[in-house]
Order: sequence, then structure tokens, then C-alpha cells
Amino acid sequence: MEEKLENIEAEAKAAIKEATDLDGLEELRVKYLGKKGQVTEILQGIGDLEPEQRPVVGKLGNQIKSRLEALIEDKEEELKELLKQKKLEEEQIDVTLPGVKEGYGYQHPLTQTLAEIKEVFLGLGFSIAEGPEVEKDYYNFEALNIPKTHPARDMQDSFYISADILLRTHTSPVQIRTMKQSEVPIRIIAPGRVYRVDEVDANHSPVFHQVEGLMVGQDISFSQLKGILIEFAQEMFGADREVRFRPSYFPFTEPSAEVDVSCIVCAGEGCRVCSQTGWLEILGSGMVHPRVLEMSGLDPQEVSGFAFGMGVERIAMLKYGITDIRLFYENDMRFLEQF
Ligand SMILES: [Zn+2]
Repeated sequence: MEEKLENIEAEAKAAIKEATDLDGLEELRVKYLGKKGQVTEILQGIGDLEPEQRPVVGKLGNQIKSRLEALIEDKEEELKELLKQKKLEEEQIDVTLPGVKEGYGYQHPLTQTLAEIKEVFLGLGFSIAEGPEVEKDYYNFEALNIPKTHPARDMQDSFYISADILLRTHTSPVQIRTMKQSEVPIRIIAPGRVYRVDEVDANHSPVFHQVEGLMVGQDISFSQLKGILIEFAQEMFGADREVRFRPSYFPFTEPSAEVDVSCIVCAGEGCRVCSQTGWLEILGSGMVHPRVLEMSGLDPQEVSGFAFGMGVERIAMLKYGITDIRLFYENDMRFLEQF
């Protein structure tokens, strides 16, 4: 029995010495010193031995148990220290590694386009006016000479919140608010978000951006409208662009005109972008309708004015040759990085 114990000790010592991780060491502790461990079982079986054997085996067994416990404890310390060293080495900072380059931020193409539009008009003496996006039916339609029967007032085309509150369908209500609140002369642009019930496709989005312009004063004429808008078109699209005015109809202006610039792609030759016409429509405009002036508390005999409105997305698409409006809203870095 003594020899058996000594063999166990020798075997355990060798195994402990060889242990390479804490889990393996724990297995060894269980194997020799656990409840059913080899040393434990011998000590528990002492009662079955010859009486004179018992103290000898008991003493030796307990000595071996203590020695193995001490060995395991030492080994455990050693393995823990090794683990710590390894972790420290892994966490070491290599100062010679090249850094990760942070990407630059870019202004969104719509923000850039809007900034350009603003800059042109601020340079022409206009100031910026704002109005609410949740608007009264009165300001959005009624005061702009759009009667109840007009198709634009269809519940299907506008986002109504209640019978007389809706999300504005254009920035034109800011004209009315400005005329009601300000003294003549007035020279403002009103940029902002507008809402229409539209399915999303390459040319439509239920939310988009407009810039509205308004100039009101004594003796404001159509030739001033033309002068301002030609200046704008050439600043935005290039000094060599031709600009033309086409008669049109809007309920809130009379006479009304749509403004085209010669095609940026083909310079008037005719191509796919301009549908072979050689021209690109950039905005709508006209002399403020006398009824609109009246409803805003101004006397059409005393003052006159002109107004214009454009889509910021449309201007940006024409300027940069973008063929799908959805690109503006999808935040694909491959698209945004190009601006
Ligand atoms: Zn063209």
C-alpha cells in the first residue's frame, strides 16, 4: 500500500509539472485529491487495513496529500502568471502600425444646391423667409386663388391632417404669410420641405424641397422678373446658357411663365436628357395674381409683384446629371462621395 501511494505521488507530480493550463490542472486535482480521487480513496479505505498498517498508511497518505496540494497551488500561480503575461503581450500597442484614416464628411448634394440657390438670390438683395410645414388649407390653397374645386385640393393628392390642416404642398403659403406680415417692398426667397401624395419612383418622392421667390413693390414689372430669373439661371447653370420664357398657367400668377435653359448636355442640339427638345425646364414663375395680392391685404392698384418656384431636387438633378431622385434619400456613400 505504501508503494502504491508513492507511485501515485510520483505519477501525480510528473503530471502536475506537465500541466499547461488551469483546466487541465483542475482535472488532475480531481483525479488525485477529489472526493473520489486516488489518494482520497486510499485514505478512506484505511479502516480495511491491518491495524498496524493503518497509522503508517494514514500518515504517508496525508503527507502526500499535503505535498500534492502545495504543488498544485504553486503550479496554479505559475499558470496564472503565464496567462497574464500572454494577455499583456497581446494587448501591447504597436506604435509603428499605420493609422486608420478617417473619411471626410461631405455636404449632401441637396444642401449644396440649396446653398448655391440661396447665394445667388442673397446676392440679388433677397432675404430668406420661413413658414410652417403643417399649414392651414387657407394659406396653402384658398389665399393662393386655388378654389375648392381645383384638382390639387383632392384629398388623394395632399396629406390632410384634418379638414382644414394639411402638410403644405408647396412653399407658396410663405408668400401669403410674408405679404400679410411685412411692409412693401418685399424681396424674399422661401426654401423648405413640401409634401405630396406620390408613389416613389425615379422622378417622384412624397417629400421634396422647393424654393419660392417673391418680389412685391411699386411698379414691379415682368421685365424685372425676367432680369432676375435670367441672372439666376446663368449663375446656376453657366453664363453661356440660353434662357427662354414659355407662357404657362398657375392659379396664383397672371401672366405665368415657365422658364427653360438650353440643355446642359447637348447645348440645344437635342438629346435623351432634354427629350430631344434642346431645353430643360427649371422653374415656374409669373406676376402675382391681383386676387392673391388682395387676399393678402395689398391693393393691386398700388403694388404689383412677381413670384417663382423651383424644385431643389430638379435643379440638382439637371446640374449634376442625376437621373433618379431616389439617390438623394438613400444615403449611399458611393453616390454622396461624388459631390
Ligand atoms: Zn439635350
